[in-house]
Amino acid sequence: MGKIIAVVNQKGGVGKSTTCVNLTAALHARGRRTLLADIDPQANSTSGLGVRKDRHPNTYDVLIGSSPAAAAVIETRYGFILPSNRDLAAADVELVGLERREYRLREALAPLKEQFEFILIDCPPSLELLTINALAAADTVLIPVQCEYYALEGLADLINSIRLVKRGMNPSLEIEGILITMFDNRTNFSNQVENELRSHFGDKVYDRVIPRNVRLAEAPSHGQPCIVYDRICKGTRAYLHFASEFLRDQPQ
Ligand code: ATP
Ligand code: MG
Repeated sequence: MGKIIAVVNQKGGVGKSTTCVNLTAALHARGRRTLLADIDPQANSTSGLGVRKDRHPNTYDVLIGSSPAAAAVIETRYGFILPSNRDLAAADVELVGLERREYRLREALAPLKEQFEFILIDCPPSLELLTINALAAADTVLIPVQCEYYALEGLADLINSIRLVKRGMNPSLEIEGILITMFDNRTNFSNQVENELRSHFGDKVYDRVIPRNVRLAEAPSHGQPCIVYDRICKGTRAYLHFASEFLRDQPQ
């Protein structure tokens, strides 16, 4: 049975999509069958794996119930993607009127769990209905945290939402891990945020931190994961190490 991992942080621009794209590609390169489900209307994971943002069917069609998820999945050279589309921006409103609105994604992905070892969900930067759908569908939550001053404050809200979902909708939901991103070791500040995260969350925080690296930001404009775009840059090395750590944590 596949494991569903929601990549969540309601703060924008912390590295969710970059983590999804590069972890998917790293797992795929190791022969682990991986699907990236993009539920963000910005569709950065979709274009990051080299897929156009206007594909149909897409996650919007799947959530609304007009297409089975299997029909929307596309195979790329870097892994499988359930593509997003800007139509999804309307879904937060449209889903409100539908039955079992928090469980649409969970029910849509259920038939795919047999086919994939890992299903990653790239979430939008909010804690609204799309993200709640991801939390209700997931076995675990992977939280990228950018090394900056307000990181810890936002994290408290997120942990609280996870707790509420766990209590009400998805009792087996666990935290997969916390990944420190955009780390800049020239600043005391990054070190200070890292220390605080490690003292609060202990071994939930991955040992490997992702540095700030311009190659990670360039790769999406080439429609490639950074680990393919530049095989030796600092960002690639960090994501490959992180992927190994992620795999080491999985039950054998
Ligand atoms: P959103 O909340 O808008 O979906 P996000 O959390 O998915 O954002 P990304 O899109 O992955 O964040 O990253 C935000 C921006 O920072 C992007 O332009 C990305 O290319 C860039 N970026 C991500 N990680 C790094 C890094 N480690 N070093 C430098 N730039 C990075
Ligand atoms: Mg994103």
